[in-house]
Parts: sequence; C-alpha cells; structure tokens
Amino acid sequence: MEKISVGILGATGMVGQNYIRLLDNHPWFEVVYVAASPGSAGKRYRDAVTGSWHMQTEIPKKAGALIVADANQISEAKGRCELLFSALEMDRKAVAELELGYASEGFAVVSNNSTHRWTEDVPMMIPEVNPHHLDIIPEQRKKREWSSGLIAVKSNCSIQSYMTPVYALERAGYKVGRMILSTLEALSGAGYPGPSAINVMDNIIPYIKDEEEKSEIEPNKVLARIENGAFVNHEPIKVSAHCNRVPVTHGHTACVSLEFAGQKPTLGDVRRIWKDFSGVPQELDLPFAPKQPIIYREEVDRPQPRKDRDKDKGMAVVVGRLRECPVFDIRFVGLHHNTVRGAAGGAILTAELLKARGYLGH
Ligand code: NAP
Repeated sequence: MEKISVGILGATGMVGQNYIRLLDNHPWFEVVYVAASPGSAGKRYRDAVTGSWHMQTEIPKKAGALIVADANQISEAKGRCELLFSALEMDRKAVAELELGYASEGFAVVSNNSTHRWTEDVPMMIPEVNPHHLDIIPEQRKKREWSSGLIAVKSNCSIQSYMTPVYALERAGYKVGRMILSTLEALSGAGYPGPSAINVMDNIIPYIKDEEEKSEIEPNKVLARIENGAFVNHEPIKVSAHCNRVPVTHGHTACVSLEFAGQKPTLGDVRRIWKDFSGVPQELDLPFAPKQPIIYREEVDRPQPRKDRDKDKGMAVVVGRLRECPVFDIRFVGLHHNTVRGAAGGAILTAELLKARGYLGH
C-alpha cells in the first residue's frame, strides 16, 4: 500500500517530537515534511532539535535529514504532503487562520491546538468515544467549498484521563450528572521548556491557564450528537475542575468523583463495564488503537505515572482506586500519557480513523 505523505507543523516542540518518534515506521503514514517557527526554518531537523530532543529513542534518520520549513508559509507544504498534524504553540488567532489556510489549500489538518475546538463544524475527537463525529466532515467541506481539505481536532489533554471511562458508563446506560475532579498534570504538558525548575522542584502549582475552563466544557462537545449536519451538545454534565501542575515528566492523573443522574451502577458493574469496553478503533484494528482502551488496576496504589503511562504504546487510559464516594456516588483515579494519548498518539489515531472512513488517500 502506498503510504500517505505527512507533514508536521510544530515538529520541533514537545508534541511535534512525539509525532516524529511515533510515526517512524508507521504502516500507513510517512513523514516527508516538517515545519516550525522562522527561527528553526532552514535547519536540518536534527540540528534544529539539538539540545532539546526529549525522546528516549534516537531521532529517526529520515526525519533527522529533513529541512525544517517555516510553518507560516503554506506554499512550502504544497505538493509535498496530504495530511498535516498541527502541534503549533503560538498566538491563537494566528494558529486559527493558519490551520484554516492549510485546509482551504486541500490539506487534511489534524490539530492538537485548542483554537478550533469550538468551531461549529470542527469535530473534537476521542476516537473510542465519538468516531461518528467525523460524519460532520462532508458538511464542513460543503459549507467551506473544500474538496479534499478538512480540520479535525483533539480535545484537551487533561480530559483524556476520565472521558473514556465516563463515556463507557454513559454508553452502558448510566448517565453522569455531576463530576468533581482534581488533575495532577505533568510538566511536558506545558511544552518545552515549560515551567522553570526553580518553580516546580519540590512544589505543586495550583493553576494552569484556561485548563479548568476547558476541562469543564469540553466533555459536552465530545459527547455531542450530530443532528441535521450540526453538533447538538450533550445534556450538560456539571463539572468542577481543579487543575494542578506537578513535578512529573509525563502522564496526567485525575482524581474524579461522579454523581449519576438516574440509575446508579454498583462498583462491580463499573469495573466490568471498563474492563469490557472497546470502541470503533478496536473493531477496525487501527494501527494505533490500544487493545484495551481502559485498563483497570486492582492494586490499591495504582495507577502511577511512571509505572502506567506507557501501557499499550502509551495509548491506554489506566484507572484504579474505584470506590464509593461519601458525597457523590463513586470515585476513581484515571491516568493517561499526555503527549501520546493526550496529544500526538491520539491525533494519529484520529487520522487513522479518517483514513479508514475514506477521508484521506485521494
Ligand atoms: P512546544 O513544545 O512549545 O512546541 C511549539 C512548536 O510550535 C514548536 O515546534 C515551535 O517551533 C512552533 N512555533 C512556535 N512559534 C511559532 C511561530 N511563530 N511560527 C511557527 N511555529 C511556531 O509546545 P507543545 O507542548 O509541543 O504543544 C503544541 C500544541 O499542542 C499546543 O497547542 C499545545 O496546547 C497542544 N497540546 C500539548 C500537549 C502536551 O502534553 N504538551 C497535549 C495536548 C495538546 P520552534 O521550535 O522553532 O520554536
């Protein structure tokens, strides 16, 4: 099978480097184009990331030899790739315009940036939860007069630790009414170089800009349905989020209490629902789909970032500490790898779903 040519915007950053690592030898996609800020443009990729390569594997040879382009120059990507992963961190308005510009030039854009998450006709994807949201793409293309271009985005990384477990319960008929959560978010979530060592060593920072707002509203779009070519938001789950930056390198943890709006599951029901949960990416056997999207750990002291974040290529959500909640109904701890499941890996899985659904590869 001929591979789909792929470009990465923001290829030199924390998420961009994960794309380079994860796409090395991907069966469907081949990285042929890398772009970043004007400061990196013109350098070989391996030189652009000298001193800031954070992956534990070596820089893949082919990607290392690519010349970094300026991501602001859409014309440089033309004719070189079909699919673009966007991991840009810059002014929101500039990212919004740039991503639209690429899509209108015929590129399929899958973005980690938050700027288009609430754009009306843009799906916000967690492929196990809302694969049907890609059905909005024909509408998006029609409305914007794009033939091959499209935009799909990932949800905020912090919500990944609990949205698949919450969705699994909703799918089984247990409607969640209210949720209180505290996140413990890794340093890599802030990109590179992130917060300075003097601020985070021996410390917790109880504030991450805009993170609580995103955590409180994004679940309702992720769980939305499509009616007459438009998203209709899910009956709101009321969420109260406390988001904290902690001195962990990778892996976001969330401590969650849930209250059900109607029928309540037993703890045994919840455990069984999570263990048996599987979605469309698993049915389609997509290359990046974890075999078991939700892994339940029975040990009293798991999940832990260092021990659990890399489960199944870093694509599984690991949950544990399920117990009754004296205020709401149940409580648990969820964990995921923020730069993999929460960023590059989740976007790759979205692109695989786009391909499987026939939106790529023309
Ligand atoms: P990062 O490490 O700061 O990387 C930012 C990238 O954007 C770099 O490649 C940088 O290129 C490029 N860039 C910066 N200014 C630019 C400009 N003016 N023009 C063109 N390119 C520019 O950030 P990150 O953590 O990888 O995050 C990337 C995106 O993913 C962000 O929107 C972030 O919110 C989102 N995200 C991150 C995570 C995570 O866990 N880190 C999770 C989910 C979503 P240079 O190296 O040349 O400066």
